[in-house]
Order: sequence, then C-alpha cells, then structure tokens
Amino acid sequence: MTIAAAAKGATRKSEVTRYQMYINGKFTDAESGKTFEVYDPATEGIIATCPAGGPEDVDRAAQAAHRAFYEGWKGTTAQERGRILFRLAERIRARRAELAELETINSGKPIVEAEYDMDDTATCYEYYGGLATKINGEVLPVPADAIAFAMREPIGVAGQIIPWNYPLLMAAWKIAPAIAAGCTVVIKPAEQTPLTLLKLAEDFEAVGLPPGVVNVVTGDGPGAGAPLVAHSLVRKIAFTGSAEVGKLIMRSAADQLKRVSLELGGKSPNIFFSDADFESAVDGALFGTFINQGEVCSAGSRVLVQRDIYTKFVDAAAAKAKTIKLGRGLDRETKMGPLVSSEQRDRVAGYLEVGRGEAKVAAGGGRPKEFDKGWYVEPTIFYDVDNSARVAQEEIFGPVMSVIPFTDEADAIRIANASQYGLAAAVWTRDIFKAFRVVKSLEAGIVWVNHMQPTFVEAPWGGYKASGFGRELGHWGVEEYLETKQVFINLDEKPIGWY
Ligand code: ADP
Ligand code: MG
Repeated sequence: MTIAAAAKGATRKSEVTRYQMYINGKFTDAESGKTFEVYDPATEGIIATCPAGGPEDVDRAAQAAHRAFYEGWKGTTAQERGRILFRLAERIRARRAELAELETINSGKPIVEAEYDMDDTATCYEYYGGLATKINGEVLPVPADAIAFAMREPIGVAGQIIPWNYPLLMAAWKIAPAIAAGCTVVIKPAEQTPLTLLKLAEDFEAVGLPPGVVNVVTGDGPGAGAPLVAHSLVRKIAFTGSAEVGKLIMRSAADQLKRVSLELGGKSPNIFFSDADFESAVDGALFGTFINQGEVCSAGSRVLVQRDIYTKFVDAAAAKAKTIKLGRGLDRETKMGPLVSSEQRDRVAGYLEVGRGEAKVAAGGGRPKEFDKGWYVEPTIFYDVDNSARVAQEEIFGPVMSVIPFTDEADAIRIANASQYGLAAAVWTRDIFKAFRVVKSLEAGIVWVNHMQPTFVEAPWGGYKASGFGRELGHWGVEEYLETKQVFINLDEKPIGWY
C-alpha cells in the first residue's frame, strides 16, 4: 500500500459532471428535476450528479419501450439485431480505455480489472450478436396428420435492475440477450455506479438502436426500481442484487404474474483437500475471495480446508493477504481498491466486528490506517470459523474470508451444502475421482475444479436455492426473454367427425 497513491487521489481536482438519463433516444432529466450524487470511492469526492428518476420517468421509459416494440422493433430481423450488437461491441472496444477509467473512478475497482470487464462486456455483445440468428423453434413429431411446431417470440418490454459491482458488464449480461431475443428494454443501473452505462448510451443511436429500444433510467431502488417492477407494460423483470431486494421484487411482480429472473447472493464454498497443489490452493483461496474487493456474488468466501493442511494453509493465506496492495484503482499497481460506498464500507466493517466475536483473525480485520480518505477495508481472514457463524452464513460482499476446517470428503460436502445459498462452489484436489464425486454432490449453479471465478459468456450463470433462479449467459440467457408458442397445422381436410 502506498500513501503517495492515496494522497494523490485525495487531492485530485474534483469536477462534478452532470449526467442525464436516456429515454426514448434522448438524454433527459427527471421530471421532478431531482438529482443524486455519484462518488469516487477512493477520494470520497462527488464526481457526478444523475437524475433521481421516479415513477413518472419509469412510465415515460416503459411507454417508449412499449411503442418501440410494437411500432417496429418486433419486425426487425434477427440479422439486423445481431449487427447492432456487433456494432455496439465495436464501440466498447474502441472506447475501452475511457470506459475502463470511468468504471474504476466510479466503482473503486483496480483499472486492470476494469479493463478485463470492458473486454468481457464487448465479448458479451458479440456473443449475443451471433446468437440472435440462431434463435429458432422446433418441428414436433405429433401423432396426427399435421405439422406441429414450437416458435419462439420476444416477451416484449423487459425491465432490468442491476448492481454496482460490475456496472457495465452486468448491463451487458441483460441488455445483450434481450436485444438478441427482440425485446425492448428499460434498465436501471445501481445508484452508486450509473456512469459507464450512460456513457455507452451515447452510442446507442449510432449503432442503430431506434429510440425507445433501450432506455436507461437512473435512480435508487425504492424511487425507480420499485415502479419499474410494478409497471403494467413491463412483462418481465431481470434482477441481480441482494436476496432481500429479490424477495421484494418477487412479491411485487406476483401482483401481475410478471416473469422474474433473480441472480442473488451467495456464500460460496471453496474446498481445499490436502492433496491439492498447495501454492495454487493458497492463491485460489485469495483470488476466489478478494477479487473485485470481494464485491462479487460468487465470492468463495467460505474457505473449507482439510485438517492436515489447515494450520499451514491459514498461515500461508494470511501472509499473502498482508501483501495485497491496496490503493486507488487508477494506480496500475493496485490489487484491491476501496469499497463502492461508505454504506458498503460500514456494512462490511459491521461484519468485521461480528467476526472478531465469532472467530480468530489471521489477517486484516479492520480499516487500513494509511488512508485518510477512501472507503478501504483490509483484506481479512477469519479462521476457526464455525459454519453456523454469521460470517459463514451471511453474504458480506467485501474482502472477508472465513476459513473452516473439515476432516474428510463427506464432512466437506456436508459443510459446503449447509447454506441457504447455492450460487457457486469450487473444489481443489489432484484426485479426479474425488473431484467429480464432490462436483456431483454440491448444490450450486456454478462449480469450478482447481480454480475459482473465471467465467465465460458461453456458459450458464445462476444459482440454486436462495441464490435465485433463471440462468444468464449462453443460450440459457436468451431463454429468459422468449415466449414459446405451440402451432398446430391440420393437414387432414375431413371434418373432425366427433359430434
Ligand atoms: P445493495 O444493498 O448492495 O446496494 P441491492 O440489492 O439493494 O444491493 O441493490 C441492487 C439493485 O437493486 C440496485 O440497482 C438498487 O437500486 C435496486 N433496488 C434496491 N431496492 C429496490 C427495490 N425495492 N425495488 C427494486 N429495485 C431495488
Ligand atoms: Mg440495498
């Protein structure tokens, strides 16, 4: 950690940029005229203001999306939609440096990670650009003189609500498949991190998205998110965020029997058997938990370690955690930035206090002393954690690892599955029989063997149990935006002859 980097951030001349939201092809303020402030988590300085969207703005956006769907978009060809997505991907690649820098300034994440995010974002639009022309139905061998088939049709207006940890990438995971499917979109970015999506919206018209096809409404959850879920023209809600808000959304959507897909929290087990490669295992535990400041839904924050390597493992992980370089995200040497908001820093700090009462501290456990500004938290390792402890059961969404010992394979599986969540899991071993047995036993939507976190747009993403339902990415992702219509074409010209 360098004091110089922090000081540089703190003295950066603050310029507050005024952003507008994007409705029906135009940048616009909220009808109320209200705005909210957006921060740089490294300096705690205000960097921008955004319109505080309310029900009136959500209504304007939903009406625009509804009109766009029925007055043209529904009739566009899959090839045209695909080409639009390819052009959008091209723009992201062309603007990679600018968008990555803004993402880092607004979210706090290391610039190197933000650059990866921009590449993944472009790749996501490319993938669904290609998939647009591969959405097709099936002809069905029904036992009648008939041709029967199932055709796929877009749901209509999709409402999308996204979190602050991977702002532009999470938007891509939702916008790209919706456009490929032929839906129109009203998307609400998180109030902490709306900037990159608004920047990208500058290109929507130029890449060929007609007005109203993708609308970006800024605002907070109760002000703009809740009215989006409740809007009668919105046919489906795709949400990524906390389990708490997921429940609210599901309840609200029930009133109109609106379709919902939810990608919620996790408390994912990262399981280390004593026959795993030791150094890779230690690296894998840190990477699995601390990447993106631990602000990752799939964070492997429950680290399960076999007894015979337990002490050595905790010592090695703690030693390495202490070398993680904290600092401003813009500094290329930074390996961990500040948390996204003072609220999130306080939430995580609260868990540090809880953890100190429930377990032993191997590394970190507080706020780093060397920064007088910025929402930093030390990478923290708790050990001798009981799986029933709060720091083993509740999602913290910060750089906090809970290490839990286990005796054998059955014990590891039992502990791993003893969680309300089931988003992700990983297992480290050189024994392929054991690896596959554990893979089959884990109740999780994503399972890694001898790695944790890498994911690619081709593969499905989503959780079991309280981690939600529905799958994003791959061909699964587009399913969330499609209806299925059964068609039966009678070829037998005789009367039915029943009555
Ligand atoms: P966090 O508390 O970590 O910010 P949330 O689940 O509250 O996580 O936020 C994720 C997204 O959900 C954000 O875009 C936020 O504005 C939105 N949101 C929060 N509350 C609601 C709500 N009641 N209805 C709809 N969206 C909401
Ligand atoms: Mg919240």
